[in-house]
Amino acid sequence: MKILVIEDDRIVRTLVKHVLEKEGHEVSIAEKGETGEEIALREDFDIIILDLGLPDKSGLDVCKVLRENDVTTPILILSAYQNTDTKITGLNTGADDYLTKPFDNKELLARIDAITRRVNKGPGSKNTYECGELKIDLISREFYVKDQKVLLTNNEFNLMAYLLKNPNRILDKDELTNNVWDINFDTNTNFLNVYVSYLRKKIEEITPKSYIQTIRKKGFMLNCEKD
Ligand code: CA
Repeated sequence: MKILVIEDDRIVRTLVKHVLEKEGHEVSIAEKGETGEEIALREDFDIIILDLGLPDKSGLDVCKVLRENDVTTPILILSAYQNTDTKITGLNTGADDYLTKPFDNKELLARIDAITRRVNKGPGSKNTYECGELKIDLISREFYVKDQKVLLTNNEFNLMAYLLKNPNRILDKDELTNNVWDINFDTNTNFLNVYVSYLRKKIEEITPKSYIQTIRKKGFMLNCEKD
């Protein structure tokens, strides 16, 4: 998805950008309210993440301006303010949801998923990836083998999503660990092997085909070729 982040705090901005890009989203950044408005009026986004305390104007005003200009993109407000009045004002101004800082990365992603699921998606946006009998839906975060829903943990899901976005290509361990897990994760290769084996086990309970192949001394490859 295309996501616009309007946020003046460098640390929050960098973190949010990193988390979203790791999920495969395309992220644009604005550090001020005015700049954010300009970008949002000029380009189409799937969601806008908007901070309330911006240096030049309030996020609430940005939200109001966008809605007055018929921008219907879902808006998720990020704010340090805990009080319910601000929350209600934000939602009354046309925001779709509200997340209080500091927030957990997983919560941010869950809110984004929930908001975008509520909005009708056009056929042009790519949210599902398939490989033979495997299918993943990045919006609902569901994974299927032969049309049977398979429950994955968050780490397993992220790994599976990356494999499905990069089929039939050797992915070395650095690429996988860098793209799949949180920044501060201890990225030892054994950890990756463990998650690959969890995924294989879940997939092979349903199908005999070995989709995730080990490429000796190189890494792994999701094999989508027909047998
Ligand atoms: Ca701020």
